[in-house]
Order: sequence, then C-alpha cells, then structure tokens
Amino acid sequence: MDRAGPLLQASRLMTLDWQVCSRARLSRDPRFDGKFFIGVIGSRVYCRPICPAPTAKEKNCRYFPTAAAAAEAGFRPCLRCRPECSPGTPAWLGTSNTVSRALRLIGESGLEDGGIENLAERVGVGSRHLRRLFIRHLGASPSAVAQTRRLHFAKKLIDETRLSMSEVAQASGFGCVRRFNAAIRKTYKRTPTQIRRLVRQAKSQPENQYLFTLRFRPPYHWKGMLAFLAARATPGVEVVEADTYRRSISLNGLPGYFEVSLDEVHNSLAVQVQIGDPRLLFLVIERIRCMFDLNADWPRIGKSLGPDPELAARLRAEPGLRVPGCWDPFELSVRAILGQQITVKGATALAGRLARSFGQTFSAPNGLTHLFPAPEALAHAKLTTVGLTTKRAETVRALARAVCDGQIGFQRIIDSEAFLTRLCAIPGIGAWTAQYVAMRALGEPDAFPSGDLGLLRALGLRNVRELEARAEGWRPWRAYAAMYLWSFPSPASAAKRSVSTSKDLVESLKHNVQASL
Ligand SMILES: [Zn+2]
Repeated sequence: MDRAGPLLQASRLMTLDWQVCSRARLSRDPRFDGKFFIGVIGSRVYCRPICPAPTAKEKNCRYFPTAAAAAEAGFRPCLRCRPECSPGTPAWLGTSNTVSRALRLIGESGLEDGGIENLAERVGVGSRHLRRLFIRHLGASPSAVAQTRRLHFAKKLIDETRLSMSEVAQASGFGCVRRFNAAIRKTYKRTPTQIRRLVRQAKSQPENQYLFTLRFRPPYHWKGMLAFLAARATPGVEVVEADTYRRSISLNGLPGYFEVSLDEVHNSLAVQVQIGDPRLLFLVIERIRCMFDLNADWPRIGKSLGPDPELAARLRAEPGLRVPGCWDPFELSVRAILGQQITVKGATALAGRLARSFGQTFSAPNGLTHLFPAPEALAHAKLTTVGLTTKRAETVRALARAVCDGQIGFQRIIDSEAFLTRLCAIPGIGAWTAQYVAMRALGEPDAFPSGDLGLLRALGLRNVRELEARAEGWRPWRAYAAMYLWSFPSPASAAKRSVSTSKDLVESLKHNVQASL
C-alpha cells in the first residue's frame, strides 16, 4: 500500500487537528501524550508530543493518530522519548465500536493468535472492512497495530527488565529469537543487546519480580482511585496502605501479586509484578492498565460532562477521576452480587470471609494471604456458612456454574449487550448489577447503574426515570459521571473540604454509596 495513504487519511479523517497538535508539540503538553505522534521527515523518527529533543520545524513534521500509523509510514520510534512508554490510545474512539472491540481483542490475545481473518470474524465483519475501519480510525492496519504493540512491549522489556533476550522474544509474542532480532534490528537499526546497553541498566530485581512504569495523560485523581479501591479491598486478597494498592493474582494456575503506586513527577504509575512466567507479563500489564483506567482521555471527558451544573463544580475541584476497572471480571461480578442492598463495609467483610474459606492460601510477605476463589471453588460451595443469604448464595453459585459450563465467559467479550443479557438471565442478577459489571469489568464508559440509590440521592431526584433523563446529557461518559457523584458528596462540601488524605475520601465513599454498593 502506498505510504501516503494512511498519512493522508490520518490528517483528513482522524479528527487530528494539526494546529492543536502543533501547539501541544511545541509546549510538550503531557495531556496529549499518546493521542498523536510526530514523524520528523529528516530523521525518519517518530516522537511523543513530550519528547525532550529539540523541536523540529513545523514543515518537517507529520502527525499520526497512532504509533502504528507512524511506523507504517516508515518512521522509527525515537530512542529518547520512547513511544512505547506513552499512554495507550483512548479505547473509545467516538464512532466505531468495532474498532474498540478489535483493539480490546488484540490487547487480550497477548498478540499471538489468529491473524486479521480471525480477528475480523470475531468482531463480526469482513477482514477488508475491518482493515478499512482501522485505517480510518487509527491510521494503520490491524496487523500493523498488533506488530507495533508487540515491538513496543519487547522494547519495554529490554529497557525495564533483565530478562534474557530469548525470554523477551517469548514474552512479547515473537515466538522465536530470530524473528525477534530481525524485527528489532529493522525497527531500531540496532540489536536488542545494543539497545539494552543504551538505557540506564534496570536495577537488579529478585527473581520473578519486574518493575514497570505505566504512563497516563494527566490529570489523574490517584487518591480518588485508591479510596474507591480501599473501601472495597477484599481482606487477604487486596491491601491498600501507604498510598499503595497491592493484590494477589492467579494466571494459568500460577499465583503471584502486583503492587501499584503513583509516580506523580513522571505522570505514571509504578508497578511491581511478581509472577513465575514472564510470558504472562503482557497480559498482566494490559489488565493493570485497564484496572487503573490509564488510557482514558480525561480532558475530553471533563469537557463533555462540564455543562451539567451538578458535575461542573465536582470536576473543577477534583479533576482526573477515573473509573476503576478490575483485575478479574468473575471476582468483580461476585463482589457486585455480595454488595446488593448491603453496605460497602458489609460486602467487603463478606468477600473476605468468602476468600478465606474458599480461596487458595497464598503466602507473600506483605499482608496477602489468599487468592480470590475460582469459579470451580464456588460452583457448589456452602456459601451460607460465611454469612450469605440463601438467595445470594444461590446467585453466586449459579454464576460460578455458568462460568464453569462455558455459558458465560468473561474473556474476549465481543458484544457487551449480548453478554449482559446472558448475565441478567441468572436469577438474582438485575440491571443494576449488570450495569455495574459493564462499568468496571468491561470498561464500558457509558455504562450506568441508573437504579442506584446513591446516584438518586446525590442529585436529589426521586426516581430512575428522572435520573435516566438527566444522564442523557452525559453520554457517552455516564460511568465517569456516576463515579463523580459517588465519590464527592456535593459540590459545596467538595469545594470546602480539603481532600488531603485518602482516609477522608474512604469515609465519604462509605457514607455516600452504602445504600447501594
Ligand atoms: Zn522523541
């Protein structure tokens, strides 16, 4: 394909406004990091808007909506600003659900399986159409997007870990070292070993431990995120202390844990992962990115929600609040069922007892004692023994059985609507629970639990219909509006209150959402 193709389309169709890009580039504005890339014609290198290198002349710059588009146009990633470290492309692209779903699948598959035919089949369109959609929205073909992600993750592992090159090749989905070496040499004009020598050497880590830096576009309301997670942290499985979130995890039968804290200076989260197989790192990192909503384009969301008078003051006082995702959708769904009609505190205590009684024990020297129970462990469990009502116990079991039987799968969800319909078919799971799961487990930015008492109270409305009518104006970001209403009681008190400790926030959250979460 002709190289001007994606470029032209990029500038015409991508809603990339070059004047905005130019201003962002010249001011190195971090809010635009990851929203576009700059190709410099002379050097054939592409950069992030925040690149510390001297800025090129405007006439020598080309703008691309994604790194893959820049790569397809023949530009190489800059070794100074490291495009592989930029925050991800915002998942919600405004017009194409198909592209968002396909991107999600590319992320979840660990990049390895199927190829474009398979991808197209899964999202229910022809492969040529999918390719056209990708070019229109991302400026690059699906295979270029997958290849760029693979290369970027490999580069991250070379720079940030001490894994051997054959382990890096495996973990980033290249299969064999020869393909990996060839791809790195072609892209960077250097061997993997030369690249590793270039970067500040990663600090020595204990075996199976890895440190990563995951960037976001500011602002990021870390205290709000942490407070929300803290109030719901399942004892033994999750710990929030000293501004750090930590949890036990299990993937392919391998137990491990990760820890996340804020690195405000670098607009990023510092992540430490402990897992026995480096091939799982890609998946772990993708999941953490979703859980902490790192791809969100907050300034855009804030602008859309701003006109609502109830939200405006909250947005001004507490910018950057994200929608907390989850580590494991099954676990989140069980939590949502446990939380029906009881307080957050009550549901958290129940979840702790559930984990202690039915989860595998796990020993780490940091307060984590259990893994959250797998569906198999809950499918026939006597859940009333840990304090669930007979009805809730049956709902949890029915969900667990549906997962074991393959009637419900939480991985690779193509069609959220169809998935939620299946979820609601389980007795005891209603619209509120389904919307809450859509919001936090599927990352649907427009999911909205309109039956929520906390939301009704926050706005002083009397019924669901009034709330739904009010929320029409918040589309497609209703999940973010819900987070603001849950997290910050009222504009007046939010403005007065200095939100200095996450403890204050935890209290306000507990108070505010206890009726419904
Ligand atoms: Zn650069």
